[in-house]
Amino acid sequence: MTLLIENVHVAPVVGPEIPSGHIVVEGDRIAALGPGPAPATPGARRVDGSGCLATPGLVNTHHHLYQWASQGLAQDATLFEWLVALYDVWAAMDAEVVRGAATAGLGWLALAGCTTSSDHHYVFPKGRGDLFAAGVEAAREIGVRFHPARGSMDRGRSRGGLPPDEVVEELDDALAATAEAVDAYHDPSPSSMLRVAVAPCSPFSASAELMTRSAALARDKGVRLHTHLAETLDEDEHCMEQFGLRPVDYMDKLGWLGPDVWLAHAVHLSDADIVKLARTGTGAAHCPSSNGRLGAGIARVSEMLRQGANVGLGVDGSASSELTSPAGEMRQALLFQRARYGPGALSARQALELATLGGARNLGREAELGSLEPGKLADVVLWRTGGPFTAAVADPVCALVFGPPPPVARVLVGGRTVVEDGELRTTSHDAAGRAGADAHRRLMRLAAERGLSADREIHH
Ligand SMILES: [Zn+2]
Repeated sequence: MTLLIENVHVAPVVGPEIPSGHIVVEGDRIAALGPGPAPATPGARRVDGSGCLATPGLVNTHHHLYQWASQGLAQDATLFEWLVALYDVWAAMDAEVVRGAATAGLGWLALAGCTTSSDHHYVFPKGRGDLFAAGVEAAREIGVRFHPARGSMDRGRSRGGLPPDEVVEELDDALAATAEAVDAYHDPSPSSMLRVAVAPCSPFSASAELMTRSAALARDKGVRLHTHLAETLDEDEHCMEQFGLRPVDYMDKLGWLGPDVWLAHAVHLSDADIVKLARTGTGAAHCPSSNGRLGAGIARVSEMLRQGANVGLGVDGSASSELTSPAGEMRQALLFQRARYGPGALSARQALELATLGGARNLGREAELGSLEPGKLADVVLWRTGGPFTAAVADPVCALVFGPPPPVARVLVGGRTVVEDGELRTTSHDAAGRAGADAHRRLMRLAAERGLSADREIHH
């Protein structure tokens, strides 16, 4: 099956832009791209890209899909206050909540031009069904590439950690369930729609032993490692008090820096930390909206890029970045860097690279994803930058990044149309949207049954 996209402004991220060109898709791969009309191909389907910008599909490298069901709570809290308020709510979740939240969350991402998303799930209350499988089922339904990270926590309050004991697992149970998730779902093939990562939650909720044994497990299985790091100054203090080291030095000591690791946030880094990340090939998932929402700070992204560290983008869980998307994060990243360092800090094209190739590198897929090049997977977004309200910006990449995301004309994942004219095509568009609201109501009811009054305890 051949698909020809024509009359389109192509921003391939690698290589020169093509102001009016074509892309040839054969099967799940990009076969060719270039200026002018596509070569005549009998039997091919044609897509007219007039008025559109074609970019690689956006890659989201940090998320907690289940949090779709707990948005808008603890609105004015710091990270630690927010976590303490929400752990009790999350303790009530079950597989049905996760399935609905992930369906709405991934549908929302696809509609906003995201073709690959990771999902860091780290709360597994006992006897609540197969929460990991629920996320996988949702991704299969929506049709995006999925990189679920099997999270874990074993440091409850009784062991000096932040979460209540009832939401953490025993260390051996967590490791066994993580190994099972890798064995059941990880697909290492180049066209893979699903790869699993190993992801103990954070230094303040996972023990040193869980961290080191998780790293050994991931390296034994040949999968990637992910965790939260250096998100807030509270975490800095916690690590100094408990381990006598700042977060990056602590993770270095545990064998957790390397080209197979990507870290969420990486906000509070010293000059030496930045050099360490760059030298070891450790990636960072920059989540500016969440960092802003929780008042965590502004990551030193432009300095990290100058030092050669890899940075991708993450929307973070919806409970701390309500309804944002990777396209929104491109803009937020650009604005934050410029607010901190001046207007030369990050260009529109650099922001697009963070959201595409930077993300693909975080997930270890830069050979397959993140740019429009012959031989790469055909994950392509057509943005309507030349529409009635968006055409006043002559540079379509500027239109994409400087303002709110323009309407999406089409999203291809491996050559398959997942979104067309702003609607999901792989599943019922309306049902996918409703699933998130249903998951929210169900979670609030389950939490209330456990005696938690959402109104009193978690709205403010
Ligand atoms: Zn997070």
